[in-house]
Amino acid sequence: MRHKFAVIGLGRFGNSIARTLAERGAEVLAVDNNEDHVEDIKEDVAYAVALDATDIRALEAQNVQDMDAAIVAIGEDFEALLITTANLQELNIKRIITRAANKQQRRILEKMGIQEILSPEGEVGKTVAERLLQPNIRTFLPLPDNYEIVEINTPRGIANKSLAKISLREKYNLNMITIKRFFEEIQDGKPTQVEHIIGVPKADTIIYPSDILILIGKKHDIKRFIDINR
Ligand code: ADP
Repeated sequence: MRHKFAVIGLGRFGNSIARTLAERGAEVLAVDNNEDHVEDIKEDVAYAVALDATDIRALEAQNVQDMDAAIVAIGEDFEALLITTANLQELNIKRIITRAANKQQRRILEKMGIQEILSPEGEVGKTVAERLLQPNIRTFLPLPDNYEIVEINTPRGIANKSLAKISLREKYNLNMITIKRFFEEIQDGKPTQVEHIIGVPKADTIIYPSDILILIGKKHDIKRFIDINR
């Protein structure tokens, strides 16, 4: 069954959430009290409706209560954000995700029992800083309990060694998911570097200097592994 989400507030943040969800196949109800913002996204989501989300009857009329989750992405008008959030709680929406611009707003939302609070500005800043500090980390998927999946360039210290020799599990508590490797192939008559996955790595798999490693483990273990083998 398709996931159903309501996105309320279609500024830059809400607009990008709504679009991404729709692109990934979710059924999205996009809501804003500004007609222009609704118009802007109409073609790209299942439903786009202009209404004032502080009006609980208006939300109910759009069946917001049947959504799997609702995201409140209203930015500047914190009062509207609070009333909208309270409306969603009153409509018994299973999962409510709300935006907070600062610590005070976050505290109030926590006191209302909201468990998922997003601070887009703060989160982007954190991601950028982490990327700058860890130039080896190409992408990462944060997971609960401080775990993450990362894609890293091969640290110099482990190049040309076998997996068994590196003792990823024993020494670093890390698991290698797979390796991305470049192969020279002829395309349109020209030798071209093409990226492949080597499948599930084995103990005798040798790591090449140009390999990209995909690892899972705790953040501090990944950092330690990179630092030691830099
Ligand atoms: P950003 O662009 O940083 O995501 P904005 O504050 O510009 O944030 O966007 C918030 C959006 O929320 C705007 O499109 C605004 O029209 C919308 N909005 C504000 N109040 C309400 C409301 N009561 N009901 C529905 N949408 C609202």
